[in-house]
Amino acid sequence: MSTSLPAYPDTLLFIDNVWRATSRTSPVNNPATEITIGQVSMAEAQDLADAVTAAQRGFHIWRKTSAFERGKLMRRAAHLLRERAEDIAFTMTMEQGKPLTESRMETLASADVIEWFADEARRTYGRVIPSRADLVRQIVMREPVGPVAAFTPWNFPINQAVRKISAALAAGCAVVLKGPEETPASCAALVRAFADAGLPAGVLNLVFGMPAEISDYLIAHPAIRKISFTGSTSVGKLLAAKAGQHMKRATMELGGHAPALVFADSDVPRAARLLAAAKFRNAGQVCIAPTRFIVEETVHDEFVRHFVAAAQALRVGNGLDDGVQMGALANERRLHTMEQLVADAVERGATIATGGKRLGREGYFFEPTVLTDVPQSARIMNEEPFGPVAAVSTFRTYDEAIEEANRLPYGLAAYAYARSAATLAALGDDIESGMLSLNHHGLGLPEAPFGGIKDSGYGSEGGTEALEAYLNTKFVSEHR
Ligand code: NAD
Repeated sequence: MSTSLPAYPDTLLFIDNVWRATSRTSPVNNPATEITIGQVSMAEAQDLADAVTAAQRGFHIWRKTSAFERGKLMRRAAHLLRERAEDIAFTMTMEQGKPLTESRMETLASADVIEWFADEARRTYGRVIPSRADLVRQIVMREPVGPVAAFTPWNFPINQAVRKISAALAAGCAVVLKGPEETPASCAALVRAFADAGLPAGVLNLVFGMPAEISDYLIAHPAIRKISFTGSTSVGKLLAAKAGQHMKRATMELGGHAPALVFADSDVPRAARLLAAAKFRNAGQVCIAPTRFIVEETVHDEFVRHFVAAAQALRVGNGLDDGVQMGALANERRLHTMEQLVADAVERGATIATGGKRLGREGYFFEPTVLTDVPQSARIMNEEPFGPVAAVSTFRTYDEAIEEANRLPYGLAAYAYARSAATLAALGDDIESGMLSLNHHGLGLPEAPFGGIKDSGYGSEGGTEALEAYLNTKFVSEHR
């Protein structure tokens, strides 16, 4: 373990450019040690009211700031984030549990996200529509939708927030962000980078508190014009319904249950290696993590052998320790869920090929786990595990593989490994998901769409589509 760690900071609210302490706080725990390392301020109703008022004021300033200037300021924030990446990574690992290398990568990749949207700000083009009459000019304009309420979870404390903040700010919107109470300090460090880059007061506000209190208040508030949520499908449906009641636009980035199809003609050892890396990254607490490994029967044993070897080779431990590749789960809830999912699968006839248990007595560590012969009725084949447990099953024909891949109401990410060009082309047509990655792990880049269909939500958090979500279309017809 490193000897001189940066101190873990308490986290305050950020409202109208002022860091604000509140009388109510909630403890923040280190999931690797279960020790309380800090406190996060919890907003009361007045704090939320102040945040919305600030966002309204901030919006009037920011929407009048040119896209060129907005982009310049955002690039400064990206620069600050990169400069501070090392300290922020320590903070993130202490509160979330992921290995330091992953925390570092998340912070640096988030700077890339900011820069991509900073550039994209200048490309929110409108258009001119040829008119039917002489002297009539018809213009389509793009305008920022208004103050945004954004809700982000604990699995990627910076990355989930930066996608929403960057797209909103690039479009000219102001934001009230409800960050993750369990991993608040790295999210606050992101907000600090924007503040220190010179963002005008009120343009970006950060609150923490009781999630339902905050979403009830913000979604219903008339000044808030757009909702963006990342989290579970069950909460997403609740918030989407509320947004609908108040006629607010919404982006919902929800749970997934990604199928990973492995065909017999693929490079099976490579597929196993890449899929294991994707499965166990962030201890499986990734909405696009592959979960159902659907393997052609003839290569099942070969795939499992390589996949299990990759799982067993992972060094699991405190994310601050050198060489650790998988850290603790972020909270105790996940640990219990893993235990329950494994027990349920085994009861229904699955075999534990490796792992299956909690590791040690302290910290929320769970072994990288591979289950084989998992029946469709097992909970893990139907519920998002959001943890380091992989479920392997087999298929005989292409149609069988597609049927299993599309069986669930989720449709976020999907993966497949095959050599046949015909198979690869057909997969593009047949898989029901918002994203499909073939023969590599290629999802999550700022310039590419990121989002789901079906119960995985709607809207996109990447690519030009992400900016669309924060823009209104206005049609102006003028007779000269
Ligand atoms: P949860 O459903 O209680 O919470 C998920 C997220 O939603 C958290 O960030 C939480 O603060 C927020 N939330 C909960 N109720 C809310 C409300 N009424 N208003 C606003 N925000 C609210 O579950 P959890 O135990 O934190 O996580 C478990 C499940 O959530 C996982 O199994 C996974 O499916 C899902 N999840 C998904 C993502 C993702 O990246 N899509 C991230 C985190 C969690």
